[in-house]
Amino acid sequence: MDRQQEFVLRTIEERDIRFVRLWFTDVLGTLKSVAIAPAELEGAFAEGIGFDGSAIEGFTRVYEADMLAKPDPSTFQVLPWRGEKPGTARMFCDITLPDGSPALADARYVLRRTLSRAADMGFSFYTHPEIEFFLLKQGTPDAAPVPVDQGGYFDHVPKGTAHDFRRAAITMLEQVGISVEFSHHEGAPGQNEIDLRYADALSTADNIMTFRTVIKEVALEQGIYATFMPKVFADHPGSGMHTHMSLFEGDSNAFFEPGAPYSLSKTGRQFIAGLLHHGREFTLITNQWVNSYKRLWGGGEAPAHLTWGHNNRSAMVRVPMYKPHKAQSSRVEVRTVDAACNPYLAFSVMLAAGLKGIEEGYDLPAETEDDVWQLTDRERRAMGIKPLPASLSEAIEAMESSELAAETLGEHVFDFVLRNKQQEWHDYRNQVTPFELEHLLPRL
Ligand code: GLN
Ligand code: MG
Ligand code: MG
Ligand code: MG
Repeated sequence: MDRQQEFVLRTIEERDIRFVRLWFTDVLGTLKSVAIAPAELEGAFAEGIGFDGSAIEGFTRVYEADMLAKPDPSTFQVLPWRGEKPGTARMFCDITLPDGSPALADARYVLRRTLSRAADMGFSFYTHPEIEFFLLKQGTPDAAPVPVDQGGYFDHVPKGTAHDFRRAAITMLEQVGISVEFSHHEGAPGQNEIDLRYADALSTADNIMTFRTVIKEVALEQGIYATFMPKVFADHPGSGMHTHMSLFEGDSNAFFEPGAPYSLSKTGRQFIAGLLHHGREFTLITNQWVNSYKRLWGGGEAPAHLTWGHNNRSAMVRVPMYKPHKAQSSRVEVRTVDAACNPYLAFSVMLAAGLKGIEEGYDLPAETEDDVWQLTDRERRAMGIKPLPASLSEAIEAMESSELAAETLGEHVFDFVLRNKQQEWHDYRNQVTPFELEHLLPRL
């Protein structure tokens, strides 16, 4: 047993923890949990806990259902919302097959594998997400959603529900070891944003999974409902998860070059070029729902084109320059991603695209400082500006032929996502919508 594992066992005894939840994430980004008694933990560390993988979306075919969940002791946390005594704790797990090899459907493994490719090139990968979400009044699921307030960007809403909510949520996030950098009201009624501190990408992905759970728990406690659905209200901006990224070589930020335009090194430029070059192919992973495309194409500062720029909030990639002389804070911001993604897979495909840009020495196209929404289709074409997929169907098509996505996700996850999303598109296309009834029934 190693020191971290010993620390976990000791803490469990000292804090009277009676339940240990083993957490992992299915291919579509849903958190899964199985609780074990502390007495099982030594065995879990040594051999993993067996479970039936066929019960979980994307995990396995029925005839190879036996899988093992192996808790990662570095992710041990006591869960504050379960009450102090007797306590409940959790750890994230890596999933293996009975022979000890990694389960191909384990998104955490997909990210580990991509991070080790980066490490082979001498890089470690850091991320910082800005997570947007809506707070709604509790209603029945079939009632129209109602936001908890009428606030806007950075508004301080007197007696607002959102203040109490953010304070309670941030307190709880800090209790589970997640540092929050900023939080504020976002542009739409009931919309909020919480930004997590920079961390290595694996910790960030774990933190996002915990974050979504904490936000939903705190909302329920306060009698409201929190949602990460990308576009809830047609007439208001949707919710994204802008993700800031950087590569470090040892202690030095590989994106930083003093004196270069935007202090951006060649590595940084090639990384962005990779994101733009492969952006269409991986959008199905960063924006995985039918509804994601209503956000991307519905305005509200969401990007719809594969462009980059410094001050351009309609661009897919932005180079923020809050502190241009500070090497450590050099980064690129991807603005397409939404918070309803599987963060392990989303980080994997974006990292892989950026690394590809570096490996192949891609040239970075000219930046666009114009608001690309103001241009006509023709002007955009003349400037070589390509659109992001306009629907789930286009995103599926763009990923189907992507070698980069197949290689990064592995065949199993790649096939599962494509099949699952084809089904979603099929189900969606079969609907006769209120829009059609309202516009066509009176006329036809
Ligand atoms: N909500 C916007 C989006 O969907 C972003 C708004 C902002 O943070 N500038 O991407
Ligand atoms: Mg922000
Ligand atoms: Mg925002
Ligand atoms: Mg941002």
